[in-house]
Amino acid sequence: MNYIDPHIHMISRVTDDYHRMARCGCVAISEPAFWAGFDRGSADGFRDYFRHLVEVEPKRAAQFGIQHYSWLCINAKEAENVSLSRDVIALIPEFLNTPGVLGIGEIGLNKNTPNEAIIFQEHLDLAMKTDELVLIHTPHLEDKLKGTRMIIDMLKNDPRVKPHRVCVDHVEEHTVRYALEGGFWCGMTLYPTSKCTPSRAVDILEMVGLDRIMANSAGDWGKSDPLAVPELILEMRRRGHPESAIKKVVHDNPLEFFRQSSRWQEPALRNES
Ligand SMILES: [Zn+2]
Repeated sequence: MNYIDPHIHMISRVTDDYHRMARCGCVAISEPAFWAGFDRGSADGFRDYFRHLVEVEPKRAAQFGIQHYSWLCINAKEAENVSLSRDVIALIPEFLNTPGVLGIGEIGLNKNTPNEAIIFQEHLDLAMKTDELVLIHTPHLEDKLKGTRMIIDMLKNDPRVKPHRVCVDHVEEHTVRYALEGGFWCGMTLYPTSKCTPSRAVDILEMVGLDRIMANSAGDWGKSDPLAVPELILEMRRRGHPESAIKKVVHDNPLEFFRQSSRWQEPALRNES
């Protein structure tokens, strides 16, 4: 089945992963800017990272017929450094008209600190001034519920924010309704063991329905599975969900969200076997 992985950090994956994803039906991915595994020392480090996202990964993906899109920001982990964060936010506009950039992300909170909240709001301000889509990281720690509430409050306090142009990612059973009831899109991040497994994700889908929800692998520096979305497809099939429902979650929903960006291009659909 053709699918889209809407959140995967290919900079941390080997080229063979692109090959395996293509064989499983992956037609497009989007790669949010994130932590590099270490704190970067200067805004120039981010400029080179953004060049990697918009120039290198699209070429690597294209070898396997996968369209590559990206999101730009300084992640919440490094946002504690407010002056570095402001330097990075200042350089984002020079990349915003680059083909393949879908918007600002993944912005959010890590430890729910005041500095993280300041930088979140400054990113949001940039996204509103430039009319960009927003992709949001919610904390993975025990403070996920508190952090998600803080983020949704900040979004609701900005009257310029249109919820259908924002995706709240890494939702779990206890946070998914906050995002959906606020009118936002939401993403479930599938991990082999921690966070949301494919089976928990199908439980969530059975609980909240299939509208405005998508699933991703996150595929990052940690133990993760770049083929987690195909695992979700298998789990939905195993439970008897119709092919149309599966396709809605793994293909049509991300497509509907991404189509709101002027820089999205339709992926060429492959013949389904
Ligand atoms: Zn991420």
